[in-house]
Amino acid sequence: MEKLLQGVVKFSNHVRPSLLPTLEKLANKAQPRMLLITCMDSRLCPTSFTQADPGDMFIVRNPGNVMPHNQLFGDTHHSVLSERAALELAISTGVQHIAVCGHSDCKVTPQA
Ligand SMILES: [Zn+2]
Repeated sequence: MEKLLQGVVKFSNHVRPSLLPTLEKLANKAQPRMLLITCMDSRLCPTSFTQADPGDMFIVRNPGNVMPHNQLFGDTHHSVLSERAALELAISTGVQHIAVCGHSDCKVTPQA
């Protein structure tokens, strides 16, 4: 935890100042062109492996990069509301590309 807290302080003091102009431009008009659905596996760093900048993409992360079947979207007994909301928001704001990113050696999906 200490490492992560130090990372937040380092980001705030050394990285954020150089991002401020970009963040100010995006404050009221971010328009990501991509929705990336990927796994919550801690070894994956989507903004690192895509070299994305702030505002480039929406990211949905869950165990196993799952996008539930649309027939489950209306069933409130299933926990698919966040994926549905993300998909609807992405499409309604003009996202042009939706990518599902899997990976090898996943450790977060249920084992059979
Ligand atoms: Zn995974």
